[in-house]
Amino acid sequence: YTGKTGTELMSDQLKKLKVRDQHSVPVVVNDQVSVYDAITTMFLEDIGTLFVVNQQSMLVGVLSRKDLLRATMGNQELSEVPVHIIMTRIPKITVCYKDDLLVDAATKLIENQIDALPVVIDRQDGQEVIGRLTKTNITKAFVDLVKDE
Ligand code: ADP
Repeated sequence: YTGKTGTELMSDQLKKLKVRDQHSVPVVVNDQVSVYDAITTMFLEDIGTLFVVNQQSMLVGVLSRKDLLRATMGNQELSEVPVHIIMTRIPKITVCYKDDLLVDAATKLIENQIDALPVVIDRQDGQEVIGRLTKTNITKAFVDLVKDE
């Protein structure tokens, strides 16, 4: 018997969780697609954050629901405006890696007040997007921990 309290045991379990075990499939759009098409993709894929990549498939930006909503409030032609005009761009993007601890990724979500992080691999010509870690992934991991007790 370790003498640990329930909370300590739960905390030990939480600290074992890695991003690699919890993340979702990323949905990416090219930086040249229109705001209109990005909105369509967000609805069809039923997700809240899109990652934007360049011609080399490397991460260049992030599009949230509110980024797209904001773009619809101007009187621009949405099918003519490319997403790179309105996205949050590198170097302002917060990322995580598949070997990161889930709790560290969760801390980034909280500290930056964002809903999702791209899971990336560093490449010579940029960062390749291999996953999407969202608040929902964190919540599910939390629920699974309690269920497994
Ligand atoms: P919403 O804006 O729909 O509430 P978020 O809270 O995720 O969704 O996004 C807030 C702002 O932060 C948006 O402008 C978005 O582009 C940006 N953002 C979202 N995710 C990231 C990220 N991983 N790194 C940097 N900026 C991000």
